Amino acid sequence: MTREVVWDHGVSLPEHSLWLDPLVVRAFAFISHAHTDHARRHKEALLTPQTLALIPEARRPRGWRLLGYDEPMRRGPAMVTLHSAGHMLGSAQLRFEHDGTSLLYTGDIKLRQPGGRVTRVPRSHVLVMESTYGRPHFRFGDPDSTVESIARWCRLALDSRVTPVLLCHALGKTEEVMLALAPYGFEFALESRCVPCARSYESAGSPLPDWIELNGETPPGRVVIAPPAGKDEVRRLGRYRTALVSGWAKDAEFARLFGADATFDLSDHCDFDELMEVVELSGADQVYTVHGYTEDFARHLRKRGVRASALEATEQLALAL
Ligand SMILES: [Zn+2]
Repeated sequence: MTREVVWDHGVSLPEHSLWLDPLVVRAFAFISHAHTDHARRHKEALLTPQTLALIPEARRPRGWRLLGYDEPMRRGPAMVTLHSAGHMLGSAQLRFEHDGTSLLYTGDIKLRQPGGRVTRVPRSHVLVMESTYGRPHFRFGDPDSTVESIARWCRLALDSRVTPVLLCHALGKTEEVMLALAPYGFEFALESRCVPCARSYESAGSPLPDWIELNGETPPGRVVIAPPAGKDEVRRLGRYRTALVSGWAKDAEFARLFGADATFDLSDHCDFDELMEVVELSGADQVYTVHGYTEDFARHLRKRGVRASALEATEQLALAL
């Protein structure tokens, strides 16, 4: 019965009263990670301790059940296990097993990470996966070489007394980029919107390299990190150059929107090939796609002989399997 998957403002296993990243408040819901689009004030949420720590007080669920990675939890007749998703601190995939059938929900996932780390994808019969970059032109370079290129770009700017500004999402991307650049010895100045996120990362147990808050003056010798949208604080810097750090760097139109001087395709999501790899690693015989290019990616999977469909397209419809 675990094979019954429904889309109703989020992924649901109706037989088990379990909601996965629902967009509306539910009685019991799994929150895969702390990005705003996934956190709601559910009556009770299942999440990792790090994810809870990264969700601001005002958006926290009213009750919670904390679960670490790889610790099986019984829920009725079923077994639930969380596995690291490699997307950001605390991000988790959920594996649900009942009656000999298993389902894996990836949440936002990243396979290949800087430092040669690779996210493990557990085997499952049914796979519900994100497909943010589910079009073939999204193919990213090797993360370690990209981090090296970013470091070189920053060093070159600093050597010419120009402030390097990395445009990164405030929560997750900013901190992961700081950690990836830490071995190069940079110090950072963070735009105000990145500051609470950096603090919560540190309080959730992930110490960051030396940083200060950007205070309207040019911080000599420091790499500035700011969110891609709304660059008022950045414009006060005097001589600076900006670089967009995102998978969207592969989309010329999107990259142009942000008017960055340079782009680096370092992403906290899988590229097209990694998404294909997630399917292979899971060994699933049925795939549902959610988020991003759901229809496109499902079509690519079907061309390769995988039973796949976009879950959101079948909203409110129980899929008879
Ligand atoms: Zn996310």
